[in-house]
Amino acid sequence: MSMTVIRAVEPRSPAHRAGVRVGETLTQINGHMIVDVLDYKFYSYDPRLELVLRDPEGNTRTVRLRKSEGEDLGLEFETYLMDRARSCANNCIFCFVDQMPPGMRPTLYFKDDDARLSFLMGNYLTLTNLSPREVQRIIDLRISPINVSVHTTDPQLRAEMLKNPRAGEGIEIMRRFAQNHITMNCQIVSCPGINDGPALDKTLADLAGMYPSVNSISVVPVGVTKYREGLYPLKPYTREQAAALVDQVEAFAQKHLEEKETRLVWCSDEFYLLAGRELPEESYFEEFTQLDNGVGMLRLLMSEFGRGLDLMEEEEMAGATPFSIATGVSAAPFLEKLVDMAWARCGKIEGKVYPILNRFFGETITVAGLVTGRDLIDQLRGQPLGERLLIPANMLRAGERVFLDDVTLDDVERELGVPVIPTAQDGYELLDAMCGIQTAPPPSMPNLPEDEYYRYNPGVRG
Ligand code: SF4
Repeated sequence: MSMTVIRAVEPRSPAHRAGVRVGETLTQINGHMIVDVLDYKFYSYDPRLELVLRDPEGNTRTVRLRKSEGEDLGLEFETYLMDRARSCANNCIFCFVDQMPPGMRPTLYFKDDDARLSFLMGNYLTLTNLSPREVQRIIDLRISPINVSVHTTDPQLRAEMLKNPRAGEGIEIMRRFAQNHITMNCQIVSCPGINDGPALDKTLADLAGMYPSVNSISVVPVGVTKYREGLYPLKPYTREQAAALVDQVEAFAQKHLEEKETRLVWCSDEFYLLAGRELPEESYFEEFTQLDNGVGMLRLLMSEFGRGLDLMEEEEMAGATPFSIATGVSAAPFLEKLVDMAWARCGKIEGKVYPILNRFFGETITVAGLVTGRDLIDQLRGQPLGERLLIPANMLRAGERVFLDDVTLDDVERELGVPVIPTAQDGYELLDAMCGIQTAPPPSMPNLPEDEYYRYNPGVRG
């Protein structure tokens, strides 16, 4: 079945007013073939549209309509992309999907690498599975910004890291995008002894050569789980290696700042935590362009938390009862600092932070977002947890009350005997949760049908 079959027409929308019907297939807009969501979004922008529709019997008809410029037509299709999601053509030596335990939900093993998801959802792509026609379409439709997993600009090293002989060509595609003013935000998954050191210097210099089309670069440490049997031998960063990398990136960023008024490249918070370094000040992160890669997230959280404390009334803190926080090993000292800040401010906010060892993926995985329900239960049972346990909301599948290992929030509450409060990455919300003030649940990204949202957001990308 074509994926451009209309599944729903929003009441009172321009398409509804024009008489577009559920079950029809949208084949053209203003003479352009509609193949997927990008064509649809791009060609439906204009205020005057001519739609060609085909009914299930194969009869076509043309519908003309007027609407405001940019107004949504009001159509929903069989799938969000109006096409199948593109899977990746690589076999990266550091791929997180390959390092997951067996028996998890099938959606978590899907390796997407789809330019449309990059533009619409912020996913990262490697540019290794695009045909020349698709490259041209990105340029023609001005699909920008896109997020690119670069890792290295050395063609041979890139081919070796991505285990794809054509991976080096992706850098040429980036150069074409740069010449055509497509904005690119870049990510480098850094693997010790492989693409850091001199290779990283070269990568940063090459990417800086594409500035301002290359708009930002994040450097994140490779995640190494205990499920690497038969895979390329990779080790996680040691404290010294992480510190050397932070120094290297900061030096490059400082030089770029002096020449071009932006640092262009940032290490993720995880690198600072691994290196045992203080997080840079808020202004260091400029526009916080790479927040989704965990760049500046903790500093922002601390700043918001501090501002929230300044604004908080005495009465709001008065009812604060003892609580606990569970998080990953790396962020635990940072959260302790926030609890201390609150205690110093009013002496009433009393909480205990529990770092949770990641036994599910292996103890080298220290980020909070990969802590599972089973590890929470096993490590917190019998501990003093106060009146409620706060957890980062990103431990749960987006918009659901389920952890990565399919243990539910209800299971954890029942086993631990306290309410468990998922808290968004937001300093104000965290402070409210510490004080026992209820906040709205985090939004569940209703734009996508649920099954697709989870497919595209497994939360454990490589
Ligand atoms: S890291 Fe990404 S691009 Fe590489 S194999 Fe895994 S899913 Fe594919």
